[in-house]
Amino acid sequence: MSPTNPRILPYGAAAIAEAAAVIRAGGCVAMPTETVYGLAADATDSRAVAGIYEAKGRPSFNPLIVHVPDLAAAERIAVFDEAAHDLATRFWPGPLTLVLPLREDAGIAALVTAGLDTIAIRVPDHRAMQALLAAAGVPLAAPSANASGSISPTRAAHVAASLAGRIPLVIDDGATPAGVESTIVRGNRVLRPGPLSQADLFRGEGRGPVTMQPETGPRPSPGSSEGVTAPGQLASHYAPGKLLRLDATERRDGEWLIGFGAIAGDDTLSASGDLIEAAANLFDALHRADAGPAAAIAVAPIPETGIGIAINDRLRRAAHPR
Ligand code: AMP
Ligand code: MG
Repeated sequence: MSPTNPRILPYGAAAIAEAAAVIRAGGCVAMPTETVYGLAADATDSRAVAGIYEAKGRPSFNPLIVHVPDLAAAERIAVFDEAAHDLATRFWPGPLTLVLPLREDAGIAALVTAGLDTIAIRVPDHRAMQALLAAAGVPLAAPSANASGSISPTRAAHVAASLAGRIPLVIDDGATPAGVESTIVRGNRVLRPGPLSQADLFRGEGRGPVTMQPETGPRPSPGSSEGVTAPGQLASHYAPGKLLRLDATERRDGEWLIGFGAIAGDDTLSASGDLIEAAANLFDALHRADAGPAAAIAVAPIPETGIGIAINDRLRRAAHPR
């Protein structure tokens, strides 16, 4: 790949127009935010979201944060209780991510939430990201714009070095002000510390103590994100409620077979054997299988290469839940 890939364009109207065109075409663009540079794609387009994973080389699917222009847009995607509304009013736009119940009609790709029934959402306080949200007209999923396993980028040059040859465009608007990822809050708990402290968020609010201890109580129901307490410690990744058999080359009695490539099933992740398409379809296919009449689920073999590694990671967790 040429050394000019990705292109780095200074923030401005022309750069934002170009970035919006990439987003509308289903691609990813690296954008500055007030926290770190994010790798943004259309959160309503499952293939575009799969492209984020492909570019980062992430070996597993973690739910991504969705960025929206304002509270009204957030309320069309997530369900706000009074406490969440209060936090949003006080700290948005800003480096606060709220984990909230996902609206069923939100139109967000299941790959964004990794199949969970909650969504992490925020309103960024950065002119470039806000300009892109306005120009693209869609919510943007955006994890940090670095290859998996590297540190988060706070300058366009960090992004270009980490994702060289993997993304088309970086918008450069200098160093990011905060330099660390957003604070993530669910209810009155801080799931990930960040630029806003517990004291900033909950001071004088009369809420219970903010902890990072795992929640206790009954095992969460399938598909629920109860018990998700801290990034990297997702206690309950989405898993179907039925038995799941991997590397299935044919359907056995009572099974719903999810095919791939030459193995046609009741459903398929990708008839053409395209791994990006398979990633984009994964959670929808699992939900369909779970909702269907068959007692068990089988999934065809998925090549352990590229984004197939993340697909297999997720399938193994679903087949062998803790
Ligand atoms: P990043 O987008 O890379 O900054 O990371 C997003 C973080 O938000 C991940 O570490 C997730 O664990 C967390 N997160 C996203 N969605 C949820 C959710 N529905 N419930 C709990 N945590 C979430
Ligand atoms: Mg990251």
